[in-house]
Amino acid sequence: MRILYPGSFDPLTLGHLDLIERASILFGEVVVAVLSNPQKAPTFNLEERIHHISNSTSHLKKVEVISFDGLTVTCAREQKVDLILRGLRALSDFEYELQIAHTNRTLSPEFETIFLASSAHQSFLSSSVVKEVARFGGEVRHMVPEAVAKDLLRLFNSALT
Ligand code: ADP
Repeated sequence: MRILYPGSFDPLTLGHLDLIERASILFGEVVVAVLSNPQKAPTFNLEERIHHISNSTSHLKKVEVISFDGLTVTCAREQKVDLILRGLRALSDFEYELQIAHTNRTLSPEFETIFLASSAHQSFLSSSVVKEVARFGGEVRHMVPEAVAKDLLRLFNSALT
């Protein structure tokens, strides 16, 4: 099977990576689709976010990283995937994710969204929490891949000087 994992990944966390690894075991091929969303003014540009993911998934043979803008279902169709993957950390994710999944099914009933629960020790992780910690000089190396931690350090150190 081929599954699409769409998201902002601004930046990639160990929670995202855990989901990608587990999905590649369960489904085979994983297409990680990075939303280019310039309106959201991402912290890391598209190239940086793609680089972080490609770098951290190089040990996984059947993972592709692409960018997309527009509708997830359009991307799913173009990529010829069987399923769409999203993660659930807590009840707070559920309402939003359910709304998106229902919307996508009304647009394209052929695509089911399936959810993987985050690993318990990573359920607190989000890109925004990681950035908040890094902005104030906190340790993030247990939250993100090494290369992302370095880029966060560089980004927020240069913002201070
Ligand atoms: P978006 O802006 O589309 O929500 P994110 O990069 O924040 O993009 O998240 C992409 C997906 O990954 C979402 O389904 C989110 O619930 C999931 N996710 C985020 N962090 C984790 C985590 N720590 N464990 C498992 N899934 C996660």
